Amino acid sequence: MNPYEVLGVTKDATQQEIKKAYKKLSLEYHPDRNKDASATEKFKQVAEAFDILGDEKKRKNYDQFGTTKKVVNHDFDHSDLFSRFFNQNQRQQKPSIRVQLEISFEESVLGCKKDVKISRQTQCRTCKGTGAKEFESCKRCDGKGKININQHPWVIQMDCDLCDGSGKDVKISCSDCNGNGNGERKEETLAVNIPAGVENGMTLKLSLEKEVVLLNILVRSHSLLERHGADLYVVVPITYTQAVFGDTIEIPSIGGKINLKVPAGIQSGGKLRLQNMGIKTQFEQGHLYAIVQIETPSELSNEHKALLEKLSKIEKKSNYVNVKSFKDKL
Ligand SMILES: [Zn+2]
Ligand SMILES: [Zn+2]
Repeated sequence: MNPYEVLGVTKDATQQEIKKAYKKLSLEYHPDRNKDASATEKFKQVAEAFDILGDEKKRKNYDQFGTTKKVVNHDFDHSDLFSRFFNQNQRQQKPSIRVQLEISFEESVLGCKKDVKISRQTQCRTCKGTGAKEFESCKRCDGKGKININQHPWVIQMDCDLCDGSGKDVKISCSDCNGNGNGERKEETLAVNIPAGVENGMTLKLSLEKEVVLLNILVRSHSLLERHGADLYVVVPITYTQAVFGDTIEIPSIGGKINLKVPAGIQSGGKLRLQNMGIKTQFEQGHLYAIVQIETPSELSNEHKALLEKLSKIEKKSNYVNVKSFKDKL
């Protein structure tokens, strides 16, 4: 589609001529008036052509790239409009205070109550935070608080960006706060409930009246327990005989030590699951996994050594399934 042809204007037509042509043609092909089968299609084309030529930026793009498709692709972003919305949202966000909070592993798992010190910005008492001694009506929106943005074919109403929708503008600044609306800073202690299951590096957001507190959680690591999602892992070193005969061993868990029954004949690296002994989060209940690691003694007493030498002779003749299969595959 050539928008110049559709509107019947020349390449150097002025905006006024383009508008005039558009008005005339859209009236002519309006489906309410024109019952001709091709009228609707023509009406659409006229609107599309005007969408391009009625906008200097799009028109320039069309002149440069020559095809409608490219123009549409190239220019199909209402970034200006969105950025205005975005900025508006940002402006209305409460200022944030970032605080770091270090907690123990157990506290992170079970949840805890912590006192968090923050330095809060209070409002100027004289002007109640408005920064103004006297107001006047906002000139941009005539005191209405709303402005209209023309984004063809839409007209969008949004809060006035000058007065943030209040309709008011500062006429005389408050002298007590130099117009910034801020009072003194106040040290404050917040009692914060840390929910069970928080992880290292998480940020908790606390919304106060005027500010948002972003609480960065730092979890001190546990000496033995390691967290993977909601599951906990502990590596449990055992002796060769414990692996052979089985044993009951104390291991750490949330809330204290517990007994782990190691079954006879467990292999090194064997994984034992303790159902529901992991971390309970909002979404799931984790398990505790004990990974068994057989430790080879590094120093041997004479008695120990004598017994092991005797054992090694017996073992050469006994049946080790994996040892045998490994040799067979060689
Ligand atoms: Zn003030
Ligand atoms: Zn305004």
